[in-house]
Amino acid sequence: MKGLREKWLYTCYAISTLVMLSSCGSSPVTYVPAPSSEYHEYGATAALGLNQQALVPETPAKTPSQLYKEANIQVDLIPKGRHGRQVPRYMRPSYITIHSTQNYSAGAWQHSKALRNGKLRGKKRPGGNRTGYLTWHYTVDDSVAVQHLPHNEQGEHADFDGPGNNYSFGIEMCEHYGNNREATLERTAKLTAWLMHEHNIPLNHVVPHHHWGRKGVDPEHKNCPHFLLDNGRPGAKWQWFISKIEQHYRSIAPSSLRYSRFPQYASSLPEASSLVRAARPSVTATEI
Ligand SMILES: [Zn+2]
Repeated sequence: MKGLREKWLYTCYAISTLVMLSSCGSSPVTYVPAPSSEYHEYGATAALGLNQQALVPETPAKTPSQLYKEANIQVDLIPKGRHGRQVPRYMRPSYITIHSTQNYSAGAWQHSKALRNGKLRGKKRPGGNRTGYLTWHYTVDDSVAVQHLPHNEQGEHADFDGPGNNYSFGIEMCEHYGNNREATLERTAKLTAWLMHEHNIPLNHVVPHHHWGRKGVDPEHKNCPHFLLDNGRPGAKWQWFISKIEQHYRSIAPSSLRYSRFPQYASSLPEASSLVRAARPSVTATEI
């Protein structure tokens, strides 16, 4: 008796599964945007810019590999086991740190050559630089983004043995004479959006070097990248840059909600042109 009942239940289950499967196959699920009148932007949702479009799956404008190509990323790694990679430190990236070189005479390829030849040194000391070299993951100028370190290795670009070096990609933007700053910012935003997508990093984990404190250094929080900060701190210019990254991120992952803006930073956005005509300091210096 029990066996018969089980057989009958099994048959019912099999039939209902078949019905479900055939209905899925014959009429594919389509996403129909709800009438806009049903959605309203209120409070925090409106402040984050998450309108109804974020709730409905959208088709990406481009693929991540298209964005990668647009950024013109070239791989030119520091030799394994040499210079800044003599003692490799494993990294699981969860932040992206944006810098500017403050070097007014070298572009991305020149920085790459210097890194490969171990020419960029840092003073090794307990609690400070750990390797005796300066290293980071990418250098960007108006025509190329050059990669120097694998994504799973730490650099020496932010805060010595702090979380900025332990968990973040370091991206340096070039400032040499003749370099187009607007194009450099655009390329950096594309690279950053692609890295966010590759490593599932949220937008509020994209930070200026200023974000990380450098113990034992005065000032502890560096004015870097100086042309994206307001009075040495993240403000309207930084927010403008974050919006640019968000725009590129949306082009490859429009439905993702895994990002939010810095609520503490200014909401008014400056014109792009005000960033392009930044003053050129007379000093020549290198990072950190
Ligand atoms: Zn920096």
